[in-house]
Amino acid sequence: MQITIDGLRADLLNRYEAAFGKDGFRYLLKKGTVYTNAQYQHANTETIVGHTTLATGTFPSQHGMVGNVWFDREAGELSYNIEDADSPLLPSREESSEGEQVDPAQKLARTKGRSPAVILVPTFGDGLAAYYGGRSKVFGVSGKDRSAVAMAGQTGKAFWFSTDNGDFVTSSYYYDDYPDWARRWNGQRKSEKYAGTEWELSSERSTYLLAGQDDRPYEADLKGYGRTFPHRFGEAGNKLLYTQILVSPVGDLLLLDFSKALVTNEQLGQNAIPDYLSVSFSSVDAINHFFGPSSLENEEVIRQLDRTLADLIKFIDKTVGLKHTLIVLSADHGMADMPEYMTELGYTAGRLVPEVIVARANQAGRRLGIDEVVRFFYRPYLYLNDEKIAAAKLDHAQVEQAIANALTDFDGIALAVSTKSLATQKGNPLLEQVRRNQHVIRSGEIYIIQEPYWFLFDEGPIASMHGSPWLYDTHVPIIFAGPTIDAQTVHRLVHPVDVAPTIAAFLGMTPPAAAQGSPLKEVLR
Ligand SMILES: [Zn+2]
Repeated sequence: MQITIDGLRADLLNRYEAAFGKDGFRYLLKKGTVYTNAQYQHANTETIVGHTTLATGTFPSQHGMVGNVWFDREAGELSYNIEDADSPLLPSREESSEGEQVDPAQKLARTKGRSPAVILVPTFGDGLAAYYGGRSKVFGVSGKDRSAVAMAGQTGKAFWFSTDNGDFVTSSYYYDDYPDWARRWNGQRKSEKYAGTEWELSSERSTYLLAGQDDRPYEADLKGYGRTFPHRFGEAGNKLLYTQILVSPVGDLLLLDFSKALVTNEQLGQNAIPDYLSVSFSSVDAINHFFGPSSLENEEVIRQLDRTLADLIKFIDKTVGLKHTLIVLSADHGMADMPEYMTELGYTAGRLVPEVIVARANQAGRRLGIDEVVRFFYRPYLYLNDEKIAAAKLDHAQVEQAIANALTDFDGIALAVSTKSLATQKGNPLLEQVRRNQHVIRSGEIYIIQEPYWFLFDEGPIASMHGSPWLYDTHVPIIFAGPTIDAQTVHRLVHPVDVAPTIAAFLGMTPPAAAQGSPLKEVLR
């Protein structure tokens, strides 16, 4: 069982450990092999990028998921990572309803169809299917579509939470129709029962480390959800209800409940052939985006996730037996605190809005005689207008370099990299991170890296972000726990690309086809 906690920066477990019970995080921390220094090595630390890296054991340059969103040069518009018009969403109800989408990446999807078609290399689950001749069952479930789809790979089945209707949904890539058990689960309308209720603190306010960090002006209010406890969910029919539910511990609770139904009805772990279940919890990340990782909401959701995790582990013990189960826990990326908060603490930080970046790049283009040289900007990539550069009879690489230099000069930008120059540029370790993120078709010509704690977007519906190559975004936990695994803490530097090769080696399998990581020796005997 692979557990991924979306947005769980490694130090958050340490910060809150004293309040954990004995059967959740603490169980894994005490019984497992715990890596305290695991760091992503790619530059764009976003959800699809991290999940696909965990699943495939390689970098975005190879697996192709360079960001949650990239500019589709051929279509001339933005593309949401796993959208696929050929794999429409399977309707889970007769009547359709549409929620208001606030996820800035999902909002850009042109269709509701989803599949792993754009993921270019196999996952660990795909390897398992090949090794056991298709007899292993492989499932990915999550609060987010991309987190379920990436982990399920090409051969597994994926279900994710719908912010339209609170059901767990799938697409025609996986099924012609819902399995009976999933239809039954959705039919119980468990999500709807939270309409009009409140997310309250589960313990006395004074017991929280961050009790004083509830009402901060730079936290985001999700239209009536409020900045402070208790947070009230909308009434049934409110278009934001299921998004609010995901921005609370209830999102994780519903995923737990759906996962139990899956394990029971699909009879996972009931014979000698290993099965694979990926559960990716989304609520920590969702809450971080609205309230920040140093909010009372963050402390509360992790306390509650600790109990959710304890429940899941106990359930697996009862149904499969922990002595037959390998548990792997990690995260897809960390999280930055808001620039406004960091400024209060004395840091230099701020926000750089996209329009300003584009204007500055166009200004540099005009100096070379090209009007409107920028074709598109979506962080972190700037895409240039090739036709205009060709018409001006200018060398593309030199234009890129001139614009990159002009941007690097800007307050808030640590480095703008001409990706054409990556082959020859050396020295700065950030370049390695950009190189690992670079896909020839999907990446833009210039990669923009913000200075620490700067954001490349304005205050808006969401307050806080990840996506930088800095350690607050790259440092994540990796924990392996299972019958033959020693209880130990390992401080050497390791990487999430090592996770898939380690699970493979644990079972005696060849790592996934494109894996660049190495099996972690402390886990293997
Ligand atoms: Zn994420």
